[in-house]
Amino acid sequence: MKRYELVCIGAGPAGLSAAIEAARGGAGVVVYDENDRPGGQLFKQIHKFFGSREHRAQERGFHIGQSLLDEARQLGVEVVLNAVVLGIYENRTLNVMIGDRLEEVKAERILVATGASENMIPFPGWTLPGVIGAGAAQTMANIHGVRPGENILMVGSGNVGVVVSFQLLQAGCRIAAVIDAAPKISGYGVHAAKVARYGVPFFLSHTIQEARGTERVTGATIVEVDAGWQPLPGTEKFLAVDTICIAVGLNPMTQLLRMAGCRMAALSALGGKVPVHDVNQETTLPGIYVAGDVSGIEEASTAIIEGRIAGLAVAHSLGYLETPVFEEQRTRQLESMSGLRSGPYGEARRQNKEQLFALMEG
Ligand SMILES: Cc1cc2nc3c(=O)[nH]c(=O)nc-3n(C[C@H](O)[C@H](O)[C@H](O)COP(=O)(O)OP(=O)(O)OC[C@H]3O[C@@H](n4cnc5c(N)ncnc54)[C@H](O)[C@@H]3O)c2cc1C
Repeated sequence: MKRYELVCIGAGPAGLSAAIEAARGGAGVVVYDENDRPGGQLFKQIHKFFGSREHRAQERGFHIGQSLLDEARQLGVEVVLNAVVLGIYENRTLNVMIGDRLEEVKAERILVATGASENMIPFPGWTLPGVIGAGAAQTMANIHGVRPGENILMVGSGNVGVVVSFQLLQAGCRIAAVIDAAPKISGYGVHAAKVARYGVPFFLSHTIQEARGTERVTGATIVEVDAGWQPLPGTEKFLAVDTICIAVGLNPMTQLLRMAGCRMAALSALGGKVPVHDVNQETTLPGIYVAGDVSGIEEASTAIIEGRIAGLAVAHSLGYLETPVFEEQRTRQLESMSGLRSGPYGEARRQNKEQLFALMEG
């Protein structure tokens, strides 16, 4: 059985950042990722990030992913791809499927950084070919160079909806409309403005009523909704589209944690059920840490900081970092984080995170 001081599950910004900090301290680290490319969501992000330079704004996501990967490798982190972690068992043993080989691994510490999956909404026709997640559309366009469709309806005007719409326009698709049940656009105005400049209509206070077609999508009926998101009869509109992209939020991928017996809490600003954890990112299961979207949906910048905190805490718990050094470095990361958890969305997330820390103490 292979043994590592730290096993990171997921090579996104959270997993790589934790690996970097733990390895910098001196720990032996492996990172497993199910994909054949490391970087998690970052490898699909061709746009420049927003925020402050401290948080790598103005850099394109895939450049950030590449630089994290380079740094991890320089520090001796082993990054294993096409490696799906199937389960976490007693005494921090794990099963990993690497290609077609099943390996058993023992870890002193585990960091779960598995990210998030896309939410779906059921409506008549939602199982027809042509109804896909916006993230899947982004993977097709930005990773595989394949247009998911020619004529697209985007459901959801959050950052994922507007960023993916813009990238699909750049790829040569037509966006028939962006719709949202909310009365205002929820993504960053600058992303939405780029889409609007292409002449794409935004139908706010609208939802999808039905996907039309028999073999695959040939159109969509949308309908206006009232303040309680109930359809208003007589306001239906038909759009002739071949693809319907759903961008209605993300859900933390917590299956491994729930299987391991980690205590969970449902917190809406963090995207649903999330693992209870403390300020060091350690869960209710000693030695098992979380960081990034799996611990609450936020952004790559927060995923990086949470990963760093977890990596520092792992290095400290293994005896590689003296307590004053660890506390000083953690304080620096927490200060950096507080700038990100501000504004209406950030503030709600900060409050939810504090609830998680309180549950851990309680
Ligand atoms: C369209 C879009 C635009 C965005 N724009 C921005 C932006 O401008 N600024 C910003 O800060 N953030 C942005 N984000 C958000 C950012 O990409 C995510 O918050 C961030 O990637 C989360 O990092 P993570 O490491 O937690 O998870 P991820 O990046 O999702 O990485 C998790 C990795 O774990 C792997 N994995 C999961 N389960 C297993 C398993 N069992 N075994 C092995 N591997 C597994 C996954 O395949 C994945 O590679 C955007 C997201 C999207 C979708």
